[in-house]
Formats: sequence, structure tokens, C-alpha cells
Amino acid sequence: MKFNHYVIICLQVCVLVCANPVWAKASQQPDIQAVLDEAYLKFKSQNPGKNADYIPALAEVDSRFFGIALVTTDGKVYTKGDVSQEFSIQSISKVFTLSLAMEQKGPQNILDKIGVNATGLAFNSVTAIELNEDRSINPLVNAGAMAAVSLLDGKDQKAKWSSLSSWYNQFANRNLGVLDNVYQSESKNNGHNRAIAELLTSYNRFYGDVDLNLAVYTRQCSVGVTAKDLAVMASVFANNGTHPISKQRLMTSDNVKHVLAVMTTAGLYENSGEWAYQVGLPAKSGVGGGIIAVSPDRFSVAVFSPRLDEAGNSIRAQQAIGYIAEELNANIF
Ligand code: GLU
Repeated sequence: MKFNHYVIICLQVCVLVCANPVWAKASQQPDIQAVLDEAYLKFKSQNPGKNADYIPALAEVDSRFFGIALVTTDGKVYTKGDVSQEFSIQSISKVFTLSLAMEQKGPQNILDKIGVNATGLAFNSVTAIELNEDRSINPLVNAGAMAAVSLLDGKDQKAKWSSLSSWYNQFANRNLGVLDNVYQSESKNNGHNRAIAELLTSYNRFYGDVDLNLAVYTRQCSVGVTAKDLAVMASVFANNGTHPISKQRLMTSDNVKHVLAVMTTAGLYENSGEWAYQVGLPAKSGVGGGIIAVSPDRFSVAVFSPRLDEAGNSIRAQQAIGYIAEELNANIF
């Protein structure tokens, strides 16, 4: 057979393979920007739910904001909408604090001193502590998150905050600030969290001074981030502990697995089961209106939209991430 014949046969095979829809789909790279644009358009006009108001500063945030950001494990950043608007990180901070506590103390200590089972109850539930005989709580609800802060190294408040904020900055790949109005507002309305910390102390499940650790916890919740920052921060989890942009290794890949496991079982509070069932990505929400989600080895995505459902999860962020996960075929199950 002549060389020309080989070329013709090869071309014919290519045409046949590409005409088959299954092969065609598999060989195409998804157009990530188009998917983000679609998610934005699809959910922009409906904006159900309401801003958190138990922290007065959160009620004042413009509820029209809607921003979507996605970072791939090769460091590409995709954005749509209000991705430069700062808002308070709130509970999303809990995964980064947990990560530092795990790096400092090891995963066994997290299991023994805090616990990792989902409480199935609200994020600030006192009943959850009382119902559990071991007073075992979860690092992604307020009780366990404050206990995680109390475990961190640091001889005083300043030292603890300095190492925690520089840890956050390494994830964000820039220096993040604290939104002072949110910090003041939450500090003045912190009786419930203080009661939780005192209750844990009474059960020997809090590992330091209540005032000091409550102040650090409140400050971490008031850190100002954009949707883009959050996607950049979460990309470290998508990339097994190495930052896709700065290339720095921040965590061991074993610890990333532990963090993702807790996000899967408790990241969206008492709605975590439904989220796993429907969307299938480890995620974490905050009452400031942000949600991060992680597609291991592929990408991280973050959405900001302030209006929440009853459990405290941003409604449009859930919708947008659900749509993106579906379009990018990212459900881990
Ligand atoms: N700072 C908030 C609190 O302690 C965080 C709650 C959240 O985002 O779920 O109540």
C-alpha cells in the first residue's frame, strides 16, 4: 500500500471517531468560561432568600451581588460577575483554620480533641454539644471551629492571629484584611458563641482562654475576601495541598483528604447530606453569602451571593455551583 493510502485511511478513521458523539464529547475540552457565563445568566434574575441578620453588619450588604470564580489545578482563573467585591469569609474560614490546626497538631488530635461527625443540627447549636456524650463536635460548626482556634500554637492573641492570618494569606496568595465593621458588629453580638465556648470549657473540650480564642475566631470570620480570593484559596485543596498559582506546598495531601472529608459531611451545615446527594462536591458555606466547592484534581469554585436559606447557605451560590458541577461532570460520586 502506498503512503497516500495510509494517509487516507487514517483520515477516514479520524472522521469516524469524531462523528461518534461519545468520542467527540470525550475529546472536547469543556469551555469553562461559557459554563460560568451560563450559570450567571441562569440564576442572576431570581434572588430568593435573605441576608443573615443576627450579625447586623451582614444585613446591610447589598443582596444583588453575584460573583462566580473558578481556578483549575493548572492555575487558570475564570471569573464572572462581582468577583472583586469584598465580603466577610465567615464560616468558610473554618476549613482554613482546621487545616492549620491539622498541620500543627496532626489529624489524630483533631479526631480526639474535637471530633469529625456531623452534628445534624444548626451551626451554632448548643443542643448538639449536650446531646453528644463525648461532647464531640465538628470543626465546621461554631463549637468545633472555636475549639480548633483554641488548639492553635501561639503564646498570646497577637501571636496566634499573626500565624493564622499569614496562613490565610498564603492560601489567598495576597494579604487579606479584616472588615472592621463586621468584626465590631459580631463582637458586640457574640453572647451565643461565648456561651458555647464556656460550655465546652466546662466539659474540658476547649483548649485555652475563652476571651482570647473567641476574639481570634471572631476576627477570622471577619476577614474580607472576594469570590476570586475564595476560589484561589480553595484551589490548594483541589491540588492536593500545593498552591496551583504560587506553587508552594501548604499542606500534606493526607491532611487535604481529611479536610475534604469533613467538608463533605458537614460543609453545608444540616443540609450537607442533600448537597452531597445532589451536587456531590466537598464544599463549605458562610453566612456572609460565600460558598466554596472542590473538585479534587480538577478545580475549585467559589460563589458570592448574600441571600441565604434557612440553614444559612447562600441560595444562588448553591444553584450556580450545582449547575457548574453538573456541566463539568464533577460529581465525585
Ligand atoms: N461568624 C459566624 C458565627 O460565628 C459564622 C457562622 C457561619 O458563617 O455559619 O456565627
